[in-house]
Amino acid sequence: MKKNKENLNEAVSALKGVGEETAQQLNDMGIWTAGDLLNYLPYRYDDYRMKDLAEAAHEERVTVEGKVHSEPALQFFGKNKSRLTVRLLAGPHSIKVTFFNQAYLKKKLSLNDIITVTGKWDRHRQIITAQTYRLGPQQSEEEFSPVYPLKGSMTSRTLKKLIKQAYDRYGALIEDPIPHELLSKYKLIGKQEALSGMHFPTGTDHMKQARRRFVYEEFFLFQLKMQALRKVEREQSKGIAISYNADDLTAFIKRLPFPLTNAQSRVLQEILGDMKSPHRMNRLLQGDVGSGKTVVAAISMLGAISDGYQGALMVPTEILAEQHAESLNELFQPVGVNVALLTSSVKGKRRSLLLEKLAEGEIDILIGTHALIQDEVNFKNLGLVITDEQHRFGVNQRRVLREKGESPDVLFMTATPIPRTLAITVFGEMDVSIIDEMPAGRKPIETYWAKENMLERILVFMEKELSKGRQVYVICPLIEESEKLDVQNAIDVHTQLEQYFYGRFHVGLMHGRLPGEEKERVMKAFSENQFHILVSTTVVEVGVNVPNASLMVIYDAERFGLSQLHQLRGRVGRGSDQSYCILLADPKNEVGKERMKIMTETNDGFVLSEKDLELRGPGDFFGRKQSGLPEFKVADMVHDYRALEIARDDAHQLVESSAFWSEKRFEPLKQILIDEGILSGSKLD
Ligand code: ADP
Ligand code: MG
Repeated sequence: MKKNKENLNEAVSALKGVGEETAQQLNDMGIWTAGDLLNYLPYRYDDYRMKDLAEAAHEERVTVEGKVHSEPALQFFGKNKSRLTVRLLAGPHSIKVTFFNQAYLKKKLSLNDIITVTGKWDRHRQIITAQTYRLGPQQSEEEFSPVYPLKGSMTSRTLKKLIKQAYDRYGALIEDPIPHELLSKYKLIGKQEALSGMHFPTGTDHMKQARRRFVYEEFFLFQLKMQALRKVEREQSKGIAISYNADDLTAFIKRLPFPLTNAQSRVLQEILGDMKSPHRMNRLLQGDVGSGKTVVAAISMLGAISDGYQGALMVPTEILAEQHAESLNELFQPVGVNVALLTSSVKGKRRSLLLEKLAEGEIDILIGTHALIQDEVNFKNLGLVITDEQHRFGVNQRRVLREKGESPDVLFMTATPIPRTLAITVFGEMDVSIIDEMPAGRKPIETYWAKENMLERILVFMEKELSKGRQVYVICPLIEESEKLDVQNAIDVHTQLEQYFYGRFHVGLMHGRLPGEEKERVMKAFSENQFHILVSTTVVEVGVNVPNASLMVIYDAERFGLSQLHQLRGRVGRGSDQSYCILLADPKNEVGKERMKIMTETNDGFVLSEKDLELRGPGDFFGRKQSGLPEFKVADMVHDYRALEIARDDAHQLVESSAFWSEKRFEPLKQILIDEGILSGSKLD
């Protein structure tokens, strides 16, 4: 086995025809070994299947096989330019084929030869302009030609030759990482055969089988890592078992001004179950804006406190921290829980006093921004960490957080509904709880789609809401005017609205380029109703609570993703009165129109997120920022979601089986986990 590995690990320079230069080119493409070369997969195939000319469209690329039935005629023109023309009998069609600048063909082609030609079809003049040809009939293994990503001066021809050589030499040494029982369960072809199907397909079925197998392999290996990581983080790190006082919690819930929804009760049981177990909680709590995550968080915190632990709540901005501190203080007042707020404005003596109290355990719950994970902050007995609006924190911050304290249980909350396929991928190592039900009696936000020429009427509507004492958000995609993009920008819109509402209402301006303190100041002024209108870029997306705001107007709404629009819209509708959202958009295409329409039709964030993923694809779903999305070479998370779910269950079962940890045949898989740093090497002993 060792020997096999060495062979596949042989440097590409061991291949025939690979000198220093070619080796360098391959290295630049990330190909170092024969194994790398075999695993360098095409991203698409050119289709050279024969085409019935009667059905081919004008200017379509076609491949035909035919018999030469005129002497090739050669013409020269210009400098070194030539055109060779020949008549071809292809089935019932007699057509003309022209070859440009291939004068040498004149000698090679003779009457009655069979040739195969690929080129552009001129349906009107019955001419094919040849791009490639073969002397002789079509070969089935040439029907599909793989297209590889290339870099530098590497050519497709050279790469293909090298892959073929590597396959012939080392193909037999390829080990299949997928356990045989799974291969047979899904009737998947083996790795060696699948590689042949990817590189040298003999037909559509071969290609399909190969792709099917690789989709599964990619998902399975990815999920194996995730599931192993989940297991290791739960079981290997010494978690704490929190014996919460159930009676305390029941009493607290009874005193709430509302009954919990079924969904809230369910996720609470899931969270409390994790807290009680000696395993470490690593759970994602998803719930649409307004679904009532905060109260679930509060009850969980109370559970930790009832067993003598402390809790921490992390949020992305200081103003959010203040808002949370306020609402938690209110909730906890009657039960004597000590809530403290740590922000950058807590300085000097006050700060050191607070930190002292925290270390002595006099503070039960600490709320703040990422400042909470700074070194100077020490808890006496941290049992539970909750982060809100989790998608704003990077994957790495998730890790740092988990490393704080004595392995506290960790709950991540997010108001961005994430489609299940993405959730089990990006958050694959986590357990997921979903609040999929809204508290009863909510007034859904009324959403309207308006063309930009309706601005006058919208201003009138704004005025109406403002005169009722309500507040308005106006969202723009850009900060400043852009020459390239004809989109409304926040600074201009702010100026316009200030003029329009001059002397009647105050207009605030908020965007990402303002210094942090200024942002906080503007947001605070808006939340205190000193600004009646807030013109802003998407920075307000993150959960600020201004219940008095009843209208949101979004300029150039077609430029935002559905999930983002929904998230933005969630800033209104937080009070008891009817709220409105107006999408200003002139979408250019059908997809754009469909997106605006669906926004007006549903308030369900999960429905929108699935639709968003479908319309924009996974890459755009999270926006460009550190999405943590893995890159699959063959698989497509949207299209192949069923395989993803299956592979996840299989990977989960495997890492939970004792066979996986004891049987030798799983060593290559475990080696992958060791290489990834998920398992330590000693695990293999
Ligand atoms: P989220 O954080 O999920 O966006 P919040 O926790 O801020 O939502 O809750 C939104 C509002 O709904 C709050 O005013 C809260 O008191 C209220 N609320 C929470 N749960 C319920 C419930 N079960 N029934 C009625 N109102 C609720
Ligand atoms: Mg919230």
